[in-house]
Amino acid sequence: MRIDILTLFPEMFEGPFSESIIRQARENGLLTIGLTNIRDFARDKHRTADDYQYGGGSGMVMKPGPIHGAVESVLGGEEGSEGRAVILLSARGRLFDQALAAEFATLDHVVLICGRYKGVDERVAGLATHELSIGDYVLTGGELPAMVVVDAVARLIPGVLGDMESAETDSHFEGILGPPSYTRPEEFRGQKVPEALLSGNHERIRRWRRREALRMTLARRPELLERTDLTDEDQEILDDMESEKA
Ligand code: SAM
Repeated sequence: MRIDILTLFPEMFEGPFSESIIRQARENGLLTIGLTNIRDFARDKHRTADDYQYGGGSGMVMKPGPIHGAVESVLGGEEGSEGRAVILLSARGRLFDQALAAEFATLDHVVLICGRYKGVDERVAGLATHELSIGDYVLTGGELPAMVVVDAVARLIPGVLGDMESAETDSHFEGILGPPSYTRPEEFRGQKVPEALLSGNHERIRRWRRREALRMTLARRPELLERTDLTDEDQEILDDMESEKA
């Protein structure tokens, strides 16, 4: 998969993309990341990428021309939109979630446009297949959101995570929160590892984890349960919890 990031600050990405799993994915040829400086597509001699807002008000707006030029350059001669997403990072966008990460992980090419200042000229939105927000707060630029999207997508590309870091038991993979995890020692400051996890009985461990995942989801994010396809076993566990409460 190829991910192109269009930004005014390409240096910001050096650290996060040169460590750990993303570095390995790049070295193993599973992920190619291209960084394009939007300023390189400004036409004037000062390489101006932003300008004052029409209508007045504080804050500069990123000009449409350099962004259009940068997008056209990374798309090259690619025909159609199949296998591709052009994402505008924006606090006004649809909330990015695990389902979208899984969808993007199946694509050949993802382009991320990072805004800055007061945002991008509205005539950039038409270029994008998606306008996405990473949460209901405002950041100074789209660079951190782009890193979040790349990280969440990259770990779902087949072959990127080994068994040790498997994504399947993580929170949100199946729509609910993940179960708690423990490592050695067996007892720490009076707190013991739950007995089921020490039992060596795989079926018992599986059931304990599912129960705890459902318990945590019910307590912290009950709305997730409404959007998730629950199995008969899940429903039984939840009914049990309800009757325990009563
Ligand atoms: N005036 C904009 C608004 O009211 O939505 C905020 C602009 S913000 C200061 C500058 C840039 O940061 C945005 O163009 C966007 O690319 C990025 N950004 C800020 N918050 C974001 C969020 N929650 N999710 C994704 N991108 C965000």
